[in-house]
Amino acid sequence: MIKNYINGQWVESSETFETVNPATGEHLATVAQASPEQVALACESARAAFPAWANMPVQKRAKIINRIGDLIADNVETLSELETKDTGLPLYQTRNALIPRASNNFYFFAEMSKQMNGHTYPMDDQLLNYTLYQPTGVCALISPWNVPFMTGTWKSAPCLALGNTAVMKQSELSPLTTDLLGKIMEEAGVPKGVYNIVHGYGSTTGQALITNKEVNAISFTGGTSTGEHIIANAGLKKFSMELGGKSPVMIFDDCDWDRAMDAAVFGIFSINGERCTAGSRIFVQETVYNKFCDEFAKRARNIRCGDPMDTNTKVGSLISKQHFDKVTGYIRIGLEEGATLLAGGPEKPDYLPDSLKNGHFVAPTVFSNVTNDMRIAREEIFGPVAVLIPFKDEQDVIRQANDNDYGLASYLWTNDSSRVHRIAKAVDTGMMFVNSQNVRDLRTPFGGVKASGTGREGGTYSYEVFAEPKNVCISL
Ligand code: NAD
Repeated sequence: MIKNYINGQWVESSETFETVNPATGEHLATVAQASPEQVALACESARAAFPAWANMPVQKRAKIINRIGDLIADNVETLSELETKDTGLPLYQTRNALIPRASNNFYFFAEMSKQMNGHTYPMDDQLLNYTLYQPTGVCALISPWNVPFMTGTWKSAPCLALGNTAVMKQSELSPLTTDLLGKIMEEAGVPKGVYNIVHGYGSTTGQALITNKEVNAISFTGGTSTGEHIIANAGLKKFSMELGGKSPVMIFDDCDWDRAMDAAVFGIFSINGERCTAGSRIFVQETVYNKFCDEFAKRARNIRCGDPMDTNTKVGSLISKQHFDKVTGYIRIGLEEGATLLAGGPEKPDYLPDSLKNGHFVAPTVFSNVTNDMRIAREEIFGPVAVLIPFKDEQDVIRQANDNDYGLASYLWTNDSSRVHRIAKAVDTGMMFVNSQNVRDLRTPFGGVKASGTGREGGTYSYEVFAEPKNVCISL
């Protein structure tokens, strides 16, 4: 039984739900579903633990945070296997990238907490203002299922390092590694009540958490409609909203072809395409469009879905039947809209072994002859489905890139350095990667604009949600 972690105790609930391996249908665990009363208890525990944790000497607190990073590093193997079983993500990605990155989250924010400083604003010789950054208080941390451990730790590390206490709610579809994180917190010496975990569905457990009056801030990652619901229902709280995306990749004919091709393939098919920053709208200059489509489709056809536990597998199983239906539904919509299917399709691959017949596998799918007004180009599919759209010139691609509700990440491939600056400025996006994969530097702001969210996390940008600047004005 996966239990809730409240005030340092592992507690069961009267209601439970099941978590299954999406690749095989195998039952993995029964999970306690936190009741509204248990959520309230978790929030009260976080409130009670807050003063001592906030006032702990920063060196001492940072030592505990670093210890969490060490314990994650010691448990990469177990965590990766659990994450892969719970989500269908390929083991080669959880083990080599997603889980190891989680320990860096703790190391990075432990170090940053030691260097936290404010500003001074002298007014002639009359007054001196200075800012004190203080922890926000009790924070609700809400994560989706797509890279659950990475996302959960990305929130937990700055939250705790900056002196806040937390109530964490992981997605009901992927609770296993968060359970282990609670055990790691305990072993690292995090005092009781500082870190609490409540499991359950969004509409019950999540809803009780976001409306709780003890909660000062909500750091949420998930779908745009859920984010909007939270803002409308949570009352007066601080928000960080990391929401959906439909990120454009802009490929000019003067780019480094091989690198751009590699990055475009990786950008949509890694993490099963279940990636908020996936390069899911691929704009290719018309002069090289046909050549790009041919090569991209060939590359996609060579990526086979398979057992996520096999380290040769590049695309595993989608998270659930419901999500499989959504993704394959979009593939059917693409066919109805008149796009040309170059690879993959809505049917499960016929080469899967019997042991994976119950899994939710979608082969890497590629559409050409897509126009920016088609639903497959406008809406977040959140699966391994690439849409290839031609463009004429710089103005045309800027217009098409911005003609979308979302604005999370953007990718630009060109060797014209002046064009780089013009496009970086003109595209509505939270993050622009130029001649680069999506590489994460923890000091930089992560987040999006328009329907992709509000607020930024990363480096000192995490102060926005996890710290309050207090101004102190002294008459001299
Ligand atoms: P979701 O919005 O359905 O769920 C996210 C989390 O919110 C889950 O833990 C869920 O239980 C919880 N939740 C749902 N309703 C709630 C409520 N009323 N109150 C409180 N909590 C509630 O999203 P999902 O399907 O789990 O994840 C996929 C989405 O996440 C995609 O849109 C993807 O783009 C987005 N995402 C964004 C980022 C980013 O950094 N911008 C990163 C990863 C995923």
